[in-house]
Amino acid sequence: MASFQDGLPDLTACGPATSAGPRVYIETYGCQMNVYDSQAIGGLLGRDGFASAAREDEADVVLLNTCSVRDHAEHKILSRVGEIRADRRARGLAQPVIGICGCMAERLGDELRKGGQAVDLVVGVDNYDTLPGLLRGLTDPDPAGPAAGGRTVTGHRDDQHYVAPPELYPVNNSHLVTIHKGCDYKCTYCIVPMTRGPQREKHPDTILDEIAGIVAAGGREVTLLGQNVTAWRWGADLDFAALLDLVAGIDGLERIRFLTGHPRDMHRHTMATIARLGKVCPWLHVPAQSGSDRVLRRMKRLYTRAEYLAMVDHARAVIPDVTFSSDFIVGFPGETEKDFQQTLEVVRYVKYDQIFSFKYSERPGVPAARLADDVPTPEKKRRLAELMAVQDEVWQGVASACLGQSWQGVVESAARRPAGAVRVRTASNRKVVVQGTGLEIGQHVGVRVTGFRNTTFTGERLA
Ligand code: SF4
Repeated sequence: MASFQDGLPDLTACGPATSAGPRVYIETYGCQMNVYDSQAIGGLLGRDGFASAAREDEADVVLLNTCSVRDHAEHKILSRVGEIRADRRARGLAQPVIGICGCMAERLGDELRKGGQAVDLVVGVDNYDTLPGLLRGLTDPDPAGPAAGGRTVTGHRDDQHYVAPPELYPVNNSHLVTIHKGCDYKCTYCIVPMTRGPQREKHPDTILDEIAGIVAAGGREVTLLGQNVTAWRWGADLDFAALLDLVAGIDGLERIRFLTGHPRDMHRHTMATIARLGKVCPWLHVPAQSGSDRVLRRMKRLYTRAEYLAMVDHARAVIPDVTFSSDFIVGFPGETEKDFQQTLEVVRYVKYDQIFSFKYSERPGVPAARLADDVPTPEKKRRLAELMAVQDEVWQGVASACLGQSWQGVVESAARRPAGAVRVRTASNRKVVVQGTGLEIGQHVGVRVTGFRNTTFTGERLA
């Protein structure tokens, strides 16, 4: 489950290059893999003559790139389809072609087109190359035009790795690069092995060419993406650490991030590589999920609490300025108060910069669905609130210790407020809002930390 979203482009819609063809609007839900896939879909459609719609109500085609990680996320998509249809009806506008892509398409397939959902097509995560043909068939007014063909295309394919064109990336520092898809682990709560299939690596040459293209187009930072990037491997000799070495060798590339690392695959030689290559950012998103060995076993996370903490200790010892973030699930089947308290102990020990915490949500068909979902909802809510309160207390301590420090960072975007300020991101993934007279996106800047609000710092530019 890759749920980490912070630090990614603020992108709810993207689309293909401008042309005179049917206008497409893509709404992206869920994780960063979907953000990347939406960009790749945009590229595929742009090359086929489709145009980008700036707003959903101006589009001939609305694609919802969906997430199945929680029940709530799926319900949201179904209401969204109803909302789009109702809005167009109420305003007397033509109905768009509505397509469901992503994990929900893969999980529910043709079911999405049955009943009252009014969805026109369903295309799963490995079949986006069929979208141009399908959409031509559905949007071509010429009755002799191409046929729509089957409107539900799902199923996993090994041959297909999408590459998003560099010109479609948002103007932001980090350019997403998916390096593999799927996952070979079988964490019992996770729907990813069902929706995205087994782990399949993108060829290292494709990855390197893609990044070289990004650098040639002016990009200076990439985020290597995957459900479990630290398990990337090509043949006997190339593992994730070796890939980091190759990527770092690309001239002109300044910073490399990666998401998401599985704690079990955060090997010591990978940490040594991160420390040696100055280009790899010292920020590890390593989802712990629980601090209890009993729960970790039931989740099939393949590490113990002691192994996880030893990984954190080692990273702290060898990677200068390293920071951590994590995901946690509370109320997993069978989680007792004692188990939950052990999770709080891990949070207090590691001192994460940020955690993403969720109440356990049973997904149909995953192995954990066979376990009794026996933590009552009010108790799940209480644990979630307590976990967030503990993280908040931890973070107050971490952030307060940063006041007065001088950091180097790169300007990544205009800040939402105050007017004229910019958002700077450090290699350790800390965000600092700085009054930005004359500062440009991509510019390196020194800042002194003056305050913080939630997880964002405020700072002043160093002379
Ligand atoms: S490592 Fe576990 S939680 Fe992560 S995607 Fe794979 S199965 Fe899901």
